[in-house]
Amino acid sequence: MADAASLNDGSLDGRVALVTGGSRGIGRALALALARHGADVAITYVSQAKGAEETAAGVRAAGRHCHVAACDVADGAAVVAMVQAVTEAIGPPDILVNNAGITRDTLLMRMKDEDWDTVVATDLRGAFVTTRACLRGMMKSRWGRIINIGSIVAAMGNPGQANYAAAKAGLGGFTRSIAREVGSRNITANLIAPGFIETDITADLPDDLVARVRAQIPLQRLGTPEDVAPLVVFLASESGRYITGQTINVDGGLLTT
Ligand code: NDP
Repeated sequence: MADAASLNDGSLDGRVALVTGGSRGIGRALALALARHGADVAITYVSQAKGAEETAAGVRAAGRHCHVAACDVADGAAVVAMVQAVTEAIGPPDILVNNAGITRDTLLMRMKDEDWDTVVATDLRGAFVTTRACLRGMMKSRWGRIINIGSIVAAMGNPGQANYAAAKAGLGGFTRSIAREVGSRNITANLIAPGFIETDITADLPDDLVARVRAQIPLQRLGTPEDVAPLVVFLASESGRYITGQTINVDGGLLTT
């Protein structure tokens, strides 16, 4: 699969995409790739307004409209208002990428209720409320793409990440259920499970841990946000029309070792 940036084939012309958490990291790369393939893009953020504006500048440089919204995906009412605002600004989202996510890593013995609840509310319930808010428009137009960003940690497990792994595993059942529920309306739902990707989430990991992980990756490097983007573009395009309910790992082969 070619690099998303070089694949400016107009495959998403006329589409409206919503990427939650588009102010940095993977979400930014996804927003830019979707724009470069022809979609107008809305992005959300919670704290990094400057980062969100940088992403928006990139989307606009690709010649597409961009709507930026401050919106905590854990706040259901705010999500409903945000989707309404996106719809008024650039149209109802045809492509939804539930990317916003956080970690609150700590060993289970020390994990506070709040560490659990915040991660589940953001990484799992956030995808539920955002998808529900976008579904009406997709059902009406009888076309839609829901792409959830999970993690290989859901399948592997990881010490210190019981909250995160549980939330991401929940996204698997969520994705398969909605794939069955809305397939008859020509809406697909898939889960992308990245491995270790170089972003702020992985920036603070100790060097020795990163070295150990790298040694277990058949492709022998951590991934980049741009490694994830081509798959999102593919699933969002007409080419992805017969793929639904799937989990696809983008992990350099880590989970297969
Ligand atoms: P980053 O920490 O770099 O970016 C997270 C993004 O999510 C930011 O845009 C942030 O906004 C936004 N966000 C955080 N909390 C909320 C919230 N409550 N409501 C709305 N937006 C929010 O993370 P990554 O790019 O690394 O991760 C993106 C996704 O990919 C996550 O779901 C993550 O779990 C998943 N993933 C990442 C992996 C990795 O190795 N990096 C591996 C596997 C999965 P703001 O900038 O305003 O804070």
